[in-house]
Amino acid sequence: MWSDERSVPPPVGGARTGPPGRPHAVVIGSGFGGLAAALRLGARGYRVTVLERLDAPGGRACVHRQDGYTFDAGPTVVTAPWLFEELWALCGRRLADDVELRPVDPFYRVRFDDGTSIDYRGDAQAMREAVAHLAPGDVAGYERFLAASEAIFKVGFEQLGDQPFDRWADMARCLPDLMRLQSWRTVWGMACKHVKDDKLRVLLTFQSLLVGGNPFTTTSVYCLIAFLERRWGVHFAMGGTGALVAGLVKLIREQGHALRLNAPVAQILVEQGRACGVRLDSGETVRADVVVSNADSAWTYRHLLAPEHRRRWTDRRLERARYSMSLFVWYFGTRRRYEDVAHHSILLGPRYRELLDDIFRRKHLAEDFSLYLHRPTATDPSLAPRGCDAFYVLAPVPHLGSGTDWARQAEPYRRAIQARLEATVLPGLGESLASSRVMTPLDFRDRLCSVHGAAFGLEPVLTQSAWFRPHNRSEEVERLYLVGAGTHPGAGLPGVLSSARVLDRVVPHADELV
Ligand SMILES: Cc1cc2nc3c(=O)[nH]c(=O)nc-3n(C[C@H](O)[C@H](O)[C@H](O)COP(=O)(O)OP(=O)(O)OC[C@H]3O[C@@H](n4cnc5c(N)ncnc54)[C@H](O)[C@@H]3O)c2cc1C
Repeated sequence: MWSDERSVPPPVGGARTGPPGRPHAVVIGSGFGGLAAALRLGARGYRVTVLERLDAPGGRACVHRQDGYTFDAGPTVVTAPWLFEELWALCGRRLADDVELRPVDPFYRVRFDDGTSIDYRGDAQAMREAVAHLAPGDVAGYERFLAASEAIFKVGFEQLGDQPFDRWADMARCLPDLMRLQSWRTVWGMACKHVKDDKLRVLLTFQSLLVGGNPFTTTSVYCLIAFLERRWGVHFAMGGTGALVAGLVKLIREQGHALRLNAPVAQILVEQGRACGVRLDSGETVRADVVVSNADSAWTYRHLLAPEHRRRWTDRRLERARYSMSLFVWYFGTRRRYEDVAHHSILLGPRYRELLDDIFRRKHLAEDFSLYLHRPTATDPSLAPRGCDAFYVLAPVPHLGSGTDWARQAEPYRRAIQARLEATVLPGLGESLASSRVMTPLDFRDRLCSVHGAAFGLEPVLTQSAWFRPHNRSEEVERLYLVGAGTHPGAGLPGVLSSARVLDRVVPHADELV
């Protein structure tokens, strides 16, 4: 069952399905957090119904198919594969029978604005040599950074990642560890402590952006990503991340549970301080013994739970909270292949700290950008017609608090990104375009129901982490639980799968309710 030795405890509960007559759990939303929650509740004896407002499952990980190309809408970098293996194992199955996770090498090709580039890889010796070439004086510091990353992982991920943090005492208990690991430092501060070269500092810090954290303000706990990637690798699901979504949906259905699409929830119903079901937009009521929301945590409290049931997450508090950045994503297909382009590329612009300041603090849409370019056809050519490439390029942008008029701005912004790609890694792109679509912060707000169109929910700063984040076991209403990016531990596939893992600790086993 385990892909490796680790101290993460095995899940509680066996692989039992939920026949009619068992207590009923409703899960609002079918993102990775919601799908994982459904399987975990099923294994704990519940009959589960997942209600999804869109016409397809996956949330941010839905799939766009057009013009013969397959575009994963969101996550592409799969880390911590054992968290997926565990879900299959809960159903007595093997992940490998349904989905092939293929290691990606290099993890990322990082191109700096001066045209130099470095391959960020899992191979320790190759990385040491690359660092020695980039910053000869920093090799020892780089090794110290990796050792710090491992120590943080052992506490931040293994010990705290699936703890509920719904009592102040839980927080108090881990404070000494967090102080020892210097989690008051930022990700950037941690890199600066160990290495001097600015390019190397960028190389060690951009990863927190992949889960919505500004390396200059987010807690250094996120430095654990370096160890996580290096120890277990970066993977790609053959067929696209959508294959993982489809696999989870298949498991849910095989276990006898229900997934209803086009079923938007309008309200969480409460009786005597206890969640007792939901009301859909259509007016239909679905009764439940427990309710789990995988919708954006701020949206859940603001729009799905009536104000009279909220003491902590009041409208005022939610208005004053800090939300992560948003994203502009351009999905495009080309009539030719760009064999030199790696699967994952980071294309840095002329500014790093200042650009992130524009995005996170000033909420100003800058004219320059740093980009993440995804070329899945480097690993799986079946995602595009023969001889063609599928891509997406993603630019971090301020959330809708910036006031940017995306209805007008989207096309000029896309054209600017196209020009940048043509000038750097994709010459001749304009002539070879065969398919195109964009996603803007408006989609995050209007399609995915995220407050301010934030791509990663509440910003992962120390004052909005662990106990300070909306709890997995709601502090407002009994029998209401939250999973997904906006709750503990946070965004990213390992984060949202871990949030569902917390349910094993806080949701009563169905037997206790019958
Ligand atoms: C472009 C992009 C790239 C990313 N890349 C990576 C990556 O490479 N690796 C990585 O680990 N992470 C990545 N992430 C982050 C990761 O994708 C997310 O953190 C994660 O997928 C969020 O999962 P979630 O469980 O919070 O649910 P979400 O995906 O946010 O899904 C929530 C679901 O709830 C539904 N919903 C909302 N309100 C209601 C309602 N009222 N009724 C019914 N349903 C409702 C929504 O329609 C949606 O389907 C990326 C994110 C984006 C946007």
